[in-house]
Amino acid sequence: MVQFADRVNRFAASSTLAVMMAAQQYKARGIDVVDFGPGEPDFPTPDYIKRGAIEALEQNFTKYTATGGILPLREAIVKWHAGQFGTSYNANECIFTSGGKHALFGAISSLIQSGDEVIIPAPYWVSFPDIVKYAGGRPVFVQTRADDGFALRAADVEAAAGPKTKMLIVNSPNNPTGAVLPRNEYEHILEVCRRREIILLADECYSHFIYGDSKPFSIASAAGAKDYVVVAGSLSKTFSMTGWRAGFALASQPIIDAMTKLQSQSISNPNSITQKAAIAALTSPMDSVAAMLAEYTKRRERILAGVRAIPGITCTAPQGAFYVFPNVSSHLGRSGFAGDTQTLAKDLLEHAHVAVVAGDPFGAPGYLRISYATSVERIDEGLRRLAKYFQATASAA
Ligand code: GLU
Repeated sequence: MVQFADRVNRFAASSTLAVMMAAQQYKARGIDVVDFGPGEPDFPTPDYIKRGAIEALEQNFTKYTATGGILPLREAIVKWHAGQFGTSYNANECIFTSGGKHALFGAISSLIQSGDEVIIPAPYWVSFPDIVKYAGGRPVFVQTRADDGFALRAADVEAAAGPKTKMLIVNSPNNPTGAVLPRNEYEHILEVCRRREIILLADECYSHFIYGDSKPFSIASAAGAKDYVVVAGSLSKTFSMTGWRAGFALASQPIIDAMTKLQSQSISNPNSITQKAAIAALTSPMDSVAAMLAEYTKRRERILAGVRAIPGITCTAPQGAFYVFPNVSSHLGRSGFAGDTQTLAKDLLEHAHVAVVAGDPFGAPGYLRISYATSVERIDEGLRRLAKYFQATASAA
């Protein structure tokens, strides 16, 4: 029997990726699945970004690069971030990573060790607690509530902070709830972090997907933020580049140096072709992002109205990202469900051919995450199937 290391035994595999794989297996069998599972834009990567990659290949830019990404790319990232959010990092305070998750992994692995506590607002993205556990840390959850728009409050962070607290992870706009932290509350939270000497790891991967009047915002633009904030960014959603694995981190230079050391002993460098594509993405106009946001806005209205119309389901309006997070708890416990959303999600895939992610791995029993990064036609078809399914389970109760 192989004995695995504790660091691998103490966390679980990604639930979002598991749903993606399960849906693919159904599709491979010829089943027409409405896929509300992955948090993945359905738009192709824009042509001008692909051209950056094609040129890289034509110029034989296919060798090892600097561990933390080539200098022109790191310069492009800090310039782009400054232009979008008003921050002031230099290229030595930036690392390019193999995706946003890899930036989080590098930051957490570099900063968290056994005995450290990490505050994670719940509901949370599935991977936060597991990466913390991998690093040997202990996740400490702060509950946010649907009737408060899933807003994180500075007072709740303060109450959860103790002598062992080393880090707080904030994801705004939030996956899975779509909650967007108002700027003033976010600044109060930073103030708590500063007073209690807590690092604020800001996951900005949905930064540009905000509905209504709010504008994209980075806590790293607040005065004095650099001493406490680590930004984890991603090109996956903003530029529809999930498969390219393109992310970055911004932080004070010692933290970036530690992350670069870790990267030198793990991946050597991020993919060279992706790096050239990322430069093309970050140095061109943001028109494709505006077009995607306009489309998501229509889809959001459709899916929100549709899930709210299903008897027994309630749903908070998401302010950002591209998920709705309905509460389906009144349907649990019926028709032989074990009462947990994992069983419900499996049953939905098997019998209604709709892929969704269960709320439990997001720290939200009773909820389901529905990604609306799919066409309006598929949204309508998925809503029809969901309505029929929940009607049948309700009448079988
Ligand atoms: N962040 C996306 C999601 O939540 C992509 C999958 C993943 O890496 O978790 O679905």
